[in-house]
Amino acid sequence: MSFQRPPRLPALVATVFLILVTVACSAGGTTPPGAAETAATSASVPPGALLAAQPVYAAERSDPPTPTATRRALALTATPTNTPEPPTATPDGPTPIATPSPRPEGTPPRVGLQVGHWKSNELPEELARLRTSTGARWGDVTEADLNYDIAVRVQALLEAEGVVVDLLPATVPPAYDADAFVAIHADGSSGSAPRGWKLATPWRASRAAIALMEGIHSTYGQATGLPEDVGGVTVNMRGYYAFNYRRHEHAIARTTPGIIVEMGFMTNAADREVMFNQPDRVARGIADGILLYLRQRDPNDGAALLPPEFPSVRTGPNGAVMRTAPRDDAGVLRNLEPDERVFIIGREGDWYQIFARNTPGSSGWIRMDQVVESQSSGPPPEPTSSNP
Ligand SMILES: [Zn+2]
Repeated sequence: MSFQRPPRLPALVATVFLILVTVACSAGGTTPPGAAETAATSASVPPGALLAAQPVYAAERSDPPTPTATRRALALTATPTNTPEPPTATPDGPTPIATPSPRPEGTPPRVGLQVGHWKSNELPEELARLRTSTGARWGDVTEADLNYDIAVRVQALLEAEGVVVDLLPATVPPAYDADAFVAIHADGSSGSAPRGWKLATPWRASRAAIALMEGIHSTYGQATGLPEDVGGVTVNMRGYYAFNYRRHEHAIARTTPGIIVEMGFMTNAADREVMFNQPDRVARGIADGILLYLRQRDPNDGAALLPPEFPSVRTGPNGAVMRTAPRDDAGVLRNLEPDERVFIIGREGDWYQIFARNTPGSSGWIRMDQVVESQSSGPPPEPTSSNP
């Protein structure tokens, strides 16, 4: 289905509707100020890097590039001079996209496209709390409608390049194993001003997941003309339930590179103009990023698929000081109590980067000597009541 017609409602109805818009998605408004800044930075997306070079979307419509033009563009961008040429498939192989070494030779790459909130009422018992999570909406268009419309277009673009695509509902197959997993979502807000797109990896991101995110980061803004919602990544995105293989059976496998895409805000007119009326631009932005990743990855680098592992720790008898940066003179975010559980998401020198609820920025740094290893290992934190 397509969305050629934005809802045409009388002004009063539209105003009332705006107030009623569901904000179950990871709306910027529900995030503490600056909450995701650290998370976004730690995920190694240079904030604003793309934004600076990209025009803000104006309402003109441009014809989508032809498939030929796209293939040429991809070929040009797929081999940066500072990156070694990825091992290519055998000359007579069926696809120019290399596959990971564990796969039998000739296996085409497999990509899971998850339609956010689609059939969320069918989620299994372990995710029953998310069955009513229907996401954002605009007029009579639900987020699942929009996500589905874009996902099938991405599917067509990928299949045209020889990629096998699984179109997945909210319920992910147990330990879903693929070369890439991309959850497709759109945002909603209580106001009409918040706009733009954002991408996130799991808390503990493999190098492959980060590369997948960087692939789409390099194509999505240019394809859509939409601005990046810099600093808008939320805890709900990084703690997305489908990433959480340690807690849920219905999640991606540990070695499946996964990211979540928030395409734009359904509650913003300029974002809507692109997502509803020019969906092929949105689909191309996602598909080209995935293809870029598949072509640039090193299929022999199995270690790239492994998320970093960290010990399970608690704060020591004196608690810990959580700082904004891995330095003793960095600003204090919070003083942690003794014996508080800490979830580590990164390490630099003698410092751990940790996630902590109820803390500005949701993450910060503590000295390694302020924690002790604990016996129990818990799964990553994730939202308790809603999902993006
Ligand atoms: Zn959503």
